[in-house]
Amino acid sequence: MSFPFLNDQVIQMMAGMVSKYIEDQRGKYEASAHPLSAGQVQHFSAYFPAPTLDRARFAHAVPKLKNPDFYLQLRVMGIKNLPSFEDVAAITFIDVVVHNVPLTDPIRFHELVHVEQYRQMGLEEFSHRYIKGFLKGGSYAQIPLEKHARELEERYAAEPGRPFSVETEVREAIAAGLV
Ligand SMILES: [Zn+2]
Repeated sequence: MSFPFLNDQVIQMMAGMVSKYIEDQRGKYEASAHPLSAGQVQHFSAYFPAPTLDRARFAHAVPKLKNPDFYLQLRVMGIKNLPSFEDVAAITFIDVVVHNVPLTDPIRFHELVHVEQYRQMGLEEFSHRYIKGFLKGGSYAQIPLEKHARELEERYAAEPGRPFSVETEVREAIAAGLV
């Protein structure tokens, strides 16, 4: 299912709502979030650039994340299939990762890919691409930024001894119009 009736202006407006929401959530969880340990920085430095690992913060959501208020507006507009925030493992708000479940290295890796995506494209662009990807694909799983993060996470999990540069992968995906 996709939403061809939504024009660029509406998508722009939605992206604005999403950006504002992301900034608010970042502000809410920032104070209780902690950085990666020295050992984790060491481990992930085989994949991520130092600025991404330095800035990333992690906060456990207690209680679990709730769906954003703007879901009401989206549902009124006929947009269905919205992912339930309670059911996701974690969500990254710029550089603050808020997790519903205990963190594992693959989850950390996946969310760090999002931190890198935000770092390279900026909040406005990330929100715009994220919402556009959702509307085009019709589901959370089809969002290209998510697909790319999942793909890299799977590569990381499958071949732990073979590091690669997420910075390069993300830059090339942007240049190729894949995300
Ligand atoms: Zn993700």
